[in-house]
Amino acid sequence: MGASGEPVGVTRSIVILGGGIVGSALAAYLCEQGGLMVTVLEAGPPERLIGSTGHAPGYLGVFNEVSVATELARASAEKYEQIRYGGRAGFDRVGGLEVATTPGGMADLERRATLAVEAGVPVRVLAPEQAASAAPALVDPRRCTGGLLYPHDGTTRADVITAALRERAVESGARFVYAARAIGIETHADRVTAARTATAAFPADDVVVACGIWGPAVLAVVGQILPLTPVAHPYVYGPAHGKLRGNSAFVRWPEHHVYARDHGDRFGLGTYDHNPLAVDIAARATDAEQPWVAAEFDPAVTAALDLLPAVSRFDPERRLNGVFSMTPDNLPLLGPTEDIAGLWVAEALWVTHACGAARALVQMMTDRPSEIRGLERLRPGRFAGQSAELCTERALRLYRDIYATT
Ligand SMILES: Cc1cc2nc3c(=O)[nH]c(=O)nc-3n(C[C@H](O)[C@H](O)[C@H](O)COP(=O)(O)OP(=O)(O)OC[C@H]3O[C@@H](n4cnc5c(N)ncnc54)[C@H](O)[C@@H]3O)c2cc1C
Repeated sequence: MGASGEPVGVTRSIVILGGGIVGSALAAYLCEQGGLMVTVLEAGPPERLIGSTGHAPGYLGVFNEVSVATELARASAEKYEQIRYGGRAGFDRVGGLEVATTPGGMADLERRATLAVEAGVPVRVLAPEQAASAAPALVDPRRCTGGLLYPHDGTTRADVITAALRERAVESGARFVYAARAIGIETHADRVTAARTATAAFPADDVVVACGIWGPAVLAVVGQILPLTPVAHPYVYGPAHGKLRGNSAFVRWPEHHVYARDHGDRFGLGTYDHNPLAVDIAARATDAEQPWVAAEFDPAVTAALDLLPAVSRFDPERRLNGVFSMTPDNLPLLGPTEDIAGLWVAEALWVTHACGAARALVQMMTDRPSEIRGLERLRPGRFAGQSAELCTERALRLYRDIYATT
């Protein structure tokens, strides 16, 4: 140990707030650099992921009409594919299937296929019978006018990935502190000096906010406005279907704002086809799961289930209202804050983008170039000067078309 109590050779102390998939990935990548002391403060317990990561059903679609998002997804998928933890894989490349139910819907898919090819993302245009047979348990051939198959897409296990990243970080020297909710970020002369919980201060040269839906509350303590809107989202699980499968493509019906997957032992389905609901998440809320909003969600789920073949429709056994983050342009908030040196933001990141984004932020923090192009488009300060109401309104307007921008 050196005189200040730090391990010898440590030149910089970094405190990450939040130990979901993003905070854990940041810790793992930071620890690959020499001379850094990395501490993760996590409000929740070690054995359960209380944030959005603990609730994500796991779709990873590589193609996005914004190229930086495609690049982050591609980089993340490559990392997830290498991960195994507790005998389970982090990612199964089962493919992603987009299904059209009208000729107009198919025309839009063909437009997307052209863009995907331009972005270097493999995609196949499918005739109706081919689309139905790519996921026969989930696609009703009578309501299918064709589809797109993205063979590089797949399903993630966010809990497996997060556990593996945490383990890798700890083995490389990171310290995870649980039940440690940050309630303050200390600064001196517009520079970060520490993060604080109710009982302790953690000196820091850099603080990274990776608190997901709690990010705005955390940044508000230093007067920073984060243009992030937590939204409620319904996802339902069916009863066990008795056949162990799980290798079928993940399915999306973009015209209906619905998606479904086979979890192996049961089906799951989510829908965006309801009035968007902003959630005023309390700074001390202990879970990203909130009470089910029956009046909004039940009709949407019933309509969504109707898209499945009759034999696969189910009575939901579990109804989840999971909260996740949205921004006014459907893109993450990644990079330094503009007026506090050493304060960084890694927010509004999907599982789809988490690892690629964490690696890119570590490169920014250590002054190294990134292979990801277009990161400036994700600058956290890009909505400066726009009112909070306008930002929320724009974020909510994009909710139904989650893969669109602005
Ligand atoms: C129902 C649902 C479906 C989804 N579907 C998909 C999908 O198919 N594909 C996809 O890519 N993504 C999906 N997502 C989104 C995805 O889950 C999230 O975007 C992602 O998990 C966010 O990770 P995170 O680490 O940023 O946040 P979180 O997982 O929320 O982690 C933030 C952590 O910060 C901690 N924290 C909060 N405040 C503090 C504080 N003050 N001090 C210390 N710690 C704090 C929390 O306890 C939490 O553990 C879905 C989400 C939900 C809810």
